[in-house]
Amino acid sequence: MQNNWPSPKKKLGDVSAVAFDLANNVLVFHRGDRIWNQLTFNMANVYEGANNPIIEPTIVAFDRTTGAVSYELGENMFYMPHGITVDQEGCIWLTDVALHQVFKLKRTPLGVSKQLELGVAFRPGSSQQKFCKPTSVAVLPDGDFFVADGYCNARIIKYSKAGERLLTWGRNAFQGHAYETAPENFFAVPHALVLAADLGLLCVADRENGRVQCFYIKDGTFHSQYHSEIVGDRLFSVAYAPIQGGRLYVVNGPSVGIETPEHYVEVLGFVIDMKTGKVLSKFGPKGGQFQNPHDIIITPDGAEVSFFL
Ligand code: ZN
Repeated sequence: MQNNWPSPKKKLGDVSAVAFDLANNVLVFHRGDRIWNQLTFNMANVYEGANNPIIEPTIVAFDRTTGAVSYELGENMFYMPHGITVDQEGCIWLTDVALHQVFKLKRTPLGVSKQLELGVAFRPGSSQQKFCKPTSVAVLPDGDFFVADGYCNARIIKYSKAGERLLTWGRNAFQGHAYETAPENFFAVPHALVLAADLGLLCVADRENGRVQCFYIKDGTFHSQYHSEIVGDRLFSVAYAPIQGGRLYVVNGPSVGIETPEHYVEVLGFVIDMKTGKVLSKFGPKGGQFQNPHDIIITPDGAEVSFFL
């Protein structure tokens, strides 16, 4: 696996997520001057820096061949960017964990227009109207969509195109379940979503359980899960390519426990064969490992992978 991307021609804050737009630019959702640390939220998950949005554009589109900036959006809108997705109509879906909200934006000659806004700004919750640090969105060709909600609620919600709730599933696995015992449908931070549309599946990076769980798009029931000792206990994001019966591309993260030689994992990207569940190959930056990769995307043919540190 080669990383052939040019260096982005702009300095960014912490990069949270990446997506391709319809013109094959690489869209980056970054945090500008924000650093997520222990002071960012209080114990009730309320953001401590309200009324102070990130001034600079948080969405930057880079030309894939030159790395030049194609366009920029999202200034004075976001507080702690998390997920970015582009749907088949070119609309940009974003999650902000400080706002506890999900947005659907459309590019216009004057900037952006808001097509949909879900959740209540700065108000975390687990009711039907609220989210708590939502992480990611996946949009079906017919416009129905899924939200991973998120750091606190550990649930997946399916919506109609108009934003009506259709399905919800998932429970929190943070009550003493290690991977070996975390049952199906339990999440320890559902952190990223990807569609495997040809298989009729939605796959979820179940971050602190170190696994990918896949569910049927139509009814949200469990289909399969993927975990490997090579990947380890933390799996931050997942991408999918419809080749050879289905391939998952995942990035893991550094261990949080005590690292012993027996419990050491390399922080890399890994390719998983969905038919066998086996890791086929691994990849990373030239001559080394990633630090803490947060997202991954891949071209549909599986030829090029994009990852950001
Ligand atoms: Zn995250």
